[in-house]
Amino acid sequence: MSAAYDAIVIGTGQAGPSLAARLAKAGMKVAIVERKLFGGTCVNTGCIPTKAMVASAYAAHMVRRAAEFGVDAGGVWSVDMQRVKARKDAISAKSRAGLEAWLKNMDNCTVYEGHARFESPQGVSVGPHRLTAPRIFINVGGRAVVPEMPGLDQVAYLTNSSMMSVDFLPRRLIVVGGSYIGLEFGQMFRRFGSQVTILEMGPRLVPREDEDVSAAIQEILAGEEIDVRLNAKCIGFSKRGEEILAHADCAAEAPEIAGSHVLLAVGRRPNTGDLGLEAAGVEVDAHGYIAVDDQLRTSAPGIWALGDCNGHGGFTHTAYNDFEIVAANLLDNDPRRVSDRIPAYALYIDPPLGRAGMTEAEVRNSGRAALVGKRPMTKVGRAVEKGESQGFMKIVVDAQSKEILGAAILGTGGDEAIHSILDVMYAKAPYTTIQRAVHIHPTVSELIPTMLGELQPLAGAGG
Ligand SMILES: Cc1cc2nc3c(=O)[nH]c(=O)nc-3n(C[C@H](O)[C@H](O)[C@H](O)COP(=O)(O)OP(=O)(O)OC[C@H]3O[C@@H](n4cnc5c(N)ncnc54)[C@H](O)[C@@H]3O)c2cc1C
Repeated sequence: MSAAYDAIVIGTGQAGPSLAARLAKAGMKVAIVERKLFGGTCVNTGCIPTKAMVASAYAAHMVRRAAEFGVDAGGVWSVDMQRVKARKDAISAKSRAGLEAWLKNMDNCTVYEGHARFESPQGVSVGPHRLTAPRIFINVGGRAVVPEMPGLDQVAYLTNSSMMSVDFLPRRLIVVGGSYIGLEFGQMFRRFGSQVTILEMGPRLVPREDEDVSAAIQEILAGEEIDVRLNAKCIGFSKRGEEILAHADCAAEAPEIAGSHVLLAVGRRPNTGDLGLEAAGVEVDAHGYIAVDDQLRTSAPGIWALGDCNGHGGFTHTAYNDFEIVAANLLDNDPRRVSDRIPAYALYIDPPLGRAGMTEAEVRNSGRAALVGKRPMTKVGRAVEKGESQGFMKIVVDAQSKEILGAAILGTGGDEAIHSILDVMYAKAPYTTIQRAVHIHPTVSELIPTMLGELQPLAGAGG
């Protein structure tokens, strides 16, 4: 069965559906292909379900702390993991069903359910179907890395995907990986009631961040009795009856860590190995990411790659921005580029980390003259009033141009407050613009102008 289209979109993650809708609205005949669950990672096994679970974990945490706020929670309470899962599933399912219905009812758009594979530069097979189009958009996302670790094949392990089926409380959860995904799961399961150990191969948590951020995050986790083992360079597993034993330290005599469950959170890899990219002449890098230019064109004419599979983002908002870039170039005569994007993301432990632009270390390494401002959350009224005064906020600005280079807000509301900084960065306005803005009291954001009034030269930076 062959069918000719104006455009084929492979994958219904965070870029594909919106792009299909724009192309279809522009009058093109569009095919969109999904091999598994509509909505991809974010909707089914990533952002949406994990943030729903983080919300349940926060509720448990606040019940535990209720007496601090003068609230008598009755002393008897428990976490019902089946209801936690049911709530998360309902939120995910609503999003998935909405997307599926939208696509299936879209004018000019045909949905194919199955695995898409290139047969030629303009031809894709989906089961018995042979589809052709002069424009093909790849939005196939990624999946959890399962690393080579001694003994891993002897034990059952979980990933972010299988974690979505957990409707019980793991007694002792061993999380391998001390970065974004591992820390979110680690803290939430600790709050649900599991004993949690986090094994991180590197010398500190979230190594992409500044050292002071890593240290403050570790302190937050330690405050909730989460066991963090750094420099775990020799991770391996064995079984002892029903228990899983994790070896973390390279010294043979080092004590093992006993657990009931293991979660692997050591990174992601793109779903590009089974796409038949060689038949289309689409090049990938050494890690399987599809090579793209600044406007997301691949090495093959008429083929674009968007979202996690191109290695230029790793987030829902970057995948969606990829859609905006491709649509602007193709349909709006607007030459938007990936390099216009300022890195920004959040880590959803509680309190969260909101990040924008460069880290302090990156600015220092760039050699430019810079100023830095820092304020602990203990000096942010809103945080103190909420009883959530862990963390700090930090901002780095260019000493000459006064433009903001980067910021981190690790603290209550940090994921939201960071946007007042991010927007000024996009406006390329000097930091003094925020300094003169009158922010609302009491908020976390109101202390950003104050922090900017206390900037100091960044030690070790140029100038
Ligand atoms: C635990 C976890 C938490 C996260 N939390 C956040 C967060 O809070 N904020 C944030 O911004 N990001 C978060 N992310 C990252 C975010 O989920 C991804 O960056 C985002 O989903 C990427 O979207 P995408 O469109 O590139 O791919 P995906 O959403 O992965 O979609 C790809 C789709 O393509 C389909 N597909 C693949 N191959 C084929 C094929 N050959 N044929 C047909 N269909 C195919 C897949 O089935 C899938 O549906 C999280 C990720 C994880 C794992």
